[in-house]
Amino acid sequence: MSGRLIDGKQIAADLRGNVARRVQEFRDATGVIPRLVAVLTGDDPASAVYVKNKHTACEAAGLGTEVIRLPHQTTEAELLQVVHRLNADPTLHGILVQLPVPPQINPQRVLDAVAPLKDVDCFHPENVGLLVQGRPRFLPCTPAGVQRLLIHEQIPTAGRHIVVLGRSDIVGKPLALMLMQKGTGANATVTVCHSQTRDLAAITRTADILVAAIGVPRFVTAEMVRPGAVVIDVGINRVDGRLCGDVDFEPVREVAEAITPVPGGVGPMTIALLLENTLTAARLQVVPRSPGTV
Ligand code: NDP
Repeated sequence: MSGRLIDGKQIAADLRGNVARRVQEFRDATGVIPRLVAVLTGDDPASAVYVKNKHTACEAAGLGTEVIRLPHQTTEAELLQVVHRLNADPTLHGILVQLPVPPQINPQRVLDAVAPLKDVDCFHPENVGLLVQGRPRFLPCTPAGVQRLLIHEQIPTAGRHIVVLGRSDIVGKPLALMLMQKGTGANATVTVCHSQTRDLAAITRTADILVAAIGVPRFVTAEMVRPGAVVIDVGINRVDGRLCGDVDFEPVREVAEAITPVPGGVGPMTIALLLENTLTAARLQVVPRSPGTV
């Protein structure tokens, strides 16, 4: 029997509608439009698509939004200058530096330069530190999207074994941290696997919930999944012009209890969480005109 499909597209659409309502309440209470600025450096086609999708979603949710496009030959100093200018602009609340940046730029130095209160991606060390301590200011968008899917689908996590494939700073590492914290959609026993993990399949087969975030097309096969497990596919890979995840979808769906598709799973959640973080950033930076429900 095929596993249940987790419809990230629909869940994200509902969340975006919810954020749009709260953005309107915030605008009514403060007279301020929460604003997100994306900085796109270079001409990576995938990045251009991601930024365009984020821009469109911001507009639909009533957020102010702008894209700053910088040429491929931009130096690190020039990009840092742009970030400093955006940090100092009180009319904008969130800054997103789209990755990857061209090779002459050290991405860490640029991400570290983003003002922590405007760091809607939750990449700044101060925000990562707060996350580690279980008192987050922002939740990183993709890991938070995964957690929201689990909560929405009422998939229990407390006491269960969650195996996260991948340990990147963007997905695997923060996700593992979030899932092991106390709280809703967490309290799990988490194992993190990476390219040096030995006998990976033996570990993944012990997972109640398996999250794949490695960037290798269809890497997770049915043999690697315990029958009845939940499988969350974060991967976005392009093979022969088509998108696919890190999970070999059809065969894995046959053994899983529930599974996310690619596209239409985690991806749309990432964008919805970015909108929510932009509203959070505005709340942190704008004093309401009067106490209320913003
Ligand atoms: P990275 O390349 O930064 O990290 C990949 C991780 O997977 C690394 O920890 C690496 O191990 C591990 N890995 C790679 N190959 C293997 C293997 N054969 N066996 C076990 N572990 C392996 O990728 P990201 O975390 O940035 O992205 C992962 C995927 O998620 C990509 O497909 C990306 O496009 C997608 N993504 C999707 C998003 C969404 O919104 N849905 C958002 C962000 C990313 P090691 O550390 O040892 O090198």
